[in-house]
Amino acid sequence: MRIAVLAVQGAFAEHEKMFSQMGIETIELRQKSDITQDFDGLVLPGGESTVQGKLLRELDMYDGLKEMIRQGMPVLATCAGLILLAERLSNDDRSHFATLPVCVRRNAFGRQLGSFHYRGTIKGIGEFPMEFIRAPYIETVSPEVEILAEVNGHIVAVRYQNQLAAAFHPELSQDIRFHQMFLDSFRKP
Ligand code: GLN
Repeated sequence: MRIAVLAVQGAFAEHEKMFSQMGIETIELRQKSDITQDFDGLVLPGGESTVQGKLLRELDMYDGLKEMIRQGMPVLATCAGLILLAERLSNDDRSHFATLPVCVRRNAFGRQLGSFHYRGTIKGIGEFPMEFIRAPYIETVSPEVEILAEVNGHIVAVRYQNQLAAAFHPELSQDIRFHQMFLDSFRKP
């Protein structure tokens, strides 16, 4: 079992640390040749989605990764990663991989609530410490998308086929259960 973490910008090291605590090997995707390595799952970390989207294209990793996701590669996306997956952004003309049929609002919680901690509930997990940093939320979802968590009526975690996405940062908590949920979704017994 090997997890590839997109490592062009943002909070990729925190995901690597989380998986390493769980005894799971990770590799970093920094350039096009890295995506030809063998791996079983992909992580799109938090950070700045516009920068990540630009680098993905400049480094010529965009098409290859998009195709992998479309073909069913399991993906865990957090915060900016969720923005990269979203089919549409309500306050930005750009979209990136656009493989997740949801509409996402960037920096959605406003300036005052730029960063906050919330003890929410995730379907299938229970209470969970959620760290939000200039976070997006999901405004609308297609009917096939499973809603896993909401905060004040705003959707903050979803699952759709091979894609698991959260607006918060489970990798910044000490709680491995969201990462475990990701692995359990495709790990063979
Ligand atoms: N606001 C960032 C963006 O739009 C996301 C913030 C984050 O990943 N912590 O890309």
